[in-house]
Amino acid sequence: MAEKLSAVKGMNDILPPDSARWEWLEDKVRALMARYAYRNVRTPIVEPTALFVRGLGEVTDIVEKEMYSFEDRLNGEQLTLRPENTAGLVRAVAEHSMLYDGGKRLYYMGPMFRHERPQRGRYRQFHQIGAEALGFAGPDVDAEIILLADALWKELGISDVRLEINSLGQPEERRQHRTELISYLEKHSDTLDEDARRRLHSNPLRILDTKNPAMQALVEGAPKLIDFLGEASLAHFNGLKAMLEANGIAYKVNPRLVRGMDYYNLSVFEFITDSLGAQGTICAGGRYDYLIEQIGGKPAPAVGWALGVERVLELVKERGTPVPVPTPDAYAVVPDAAAMPLVLRSLQALRAAGASVQMHASSGEGMGSMKSQFKKADASGARYALIFGADELAQGQVTVKSLRDGSGGQVQRPLADPGAWAASLLT
Ligand code: ATP
Ligand code: MG
Repeated sequence: MAEKLSAVKGMNDILPPDSARWEWLEDKVRALMARYAYRNVRTPIVEPTALFVRGLGEVTDIVEKEMYSFEDRLNGEQLTLRPENTAGLVRAVAEHSMLYDGGKRLYYMGPMFRHERPQRGRYRQFHQIGAEALGFAGPDVDAEIILLADALWKELGISDVRLEINSLGQPEERRQHRTELISYLEKHSDTLDEDARRRLHSNPLRILDTKNPAMQALVEGAPKLIDFLGEASLAHFNGLKAMLEANGIAYKVNPRLVRGMDYYNLSVFEFITDSLGAQGTICAGGRYDYLIEQIGGKPAPAVGWALGVERVLELVKERGTPVPVPTPDAYAVVPDAAAMPLVLRSLQALRAAGASVQMHASSGEGMGSMKSQFKKADASGARYALIFGADELAQGQVTVKSLRDGSGGQVQRPLADPGAWAASLLT
């Protein structure tokens, strides 16, 4: 036998029955996005490396060490498996001039790739669902998109998430804060760890995000960006807070919330849970008014979030939220393979009429005993067995036998027009 191959480390197969939970979540998301009038976008999984270097910022975790980048052997292009979808979506919006007739509300779902150390809630291929509103500058759409996420938690039966928000202000305000922050950190340079020293002049804001316990007191006393915000930035932030309050959305202002990507300004936010251990952020986002021009598009304001599907589903699982297990309505028992042409035709008609039917397939040597077929029918979870026996077929009938209500009751149904009785198989 050939050597067994396995999946790439940190990249998972999603198989039944777990995949049912994924489909359940995706269905809920599609329905919810439609209610908020957000439309679906699908961008390529591979993008030019430059898109992420320019879009996310050179000194971010993702660009520094997490990207799967490679050279296309055929033409030498530098390519990257998307580590996130905002940059690609914004590229598409600019490339197709999607904002020419006004703002757009968009969403995506799909796999992302980051070379990280695999652990619970952290994988190398993982999935994100994201909502993005482009072309709208006011805090009302920030509130809308947060309300959309909140509604999703309710749909999914998730209750123990908290919302943290912050404002990163505008670039000029950040520059002033940055100068003050660097001089504060330089004064305490003996307390800085290696990571912080490296970031001191490239990305000092990220130092505030450190998880190093030895640096917590230092970070606690650092100049706060919020104290550097001008009138307009504060008005935007206060506007958002007022709209959240009016909607009964609890939040906490976390002045140290900075987010990993460079592209954010004004509102940033995270939904966090304590139920998942270290990987507690299930959804994160904010405003990115300068990203579009950064990647060569016409300037336009934008706000969005991305949620981690694996983490959200882990929460759903933990909550014990019931997710429907897909089962067929009926299982077709076929004693004699000679009946197959007719059986297939009847099942097609039943399925066309909306019934879910699983067919007992031949082994290649025969159909197997009735006993073994009924065992399979039972295991399938079907409520009915359709018995295509010789006697029934001779009369143009099929027997519909109840498998679940304990009655074992059965009726004959005409084969001529299965569409007419297909509905009786549904619940
Ligand atoms: P973290 O601090 O956990 O690394 P991040 O800031 O890198 O998160 P974002 O880029 O904001 O994460 O992505 C949004 C969401 O996607 C995260 O909140 C998380 O739920 C999920 N996510 C990010 N990276 C991974 C990963 N490697 N595996 C699984 N989910 C992930
Ligand atoms: Mg990360």
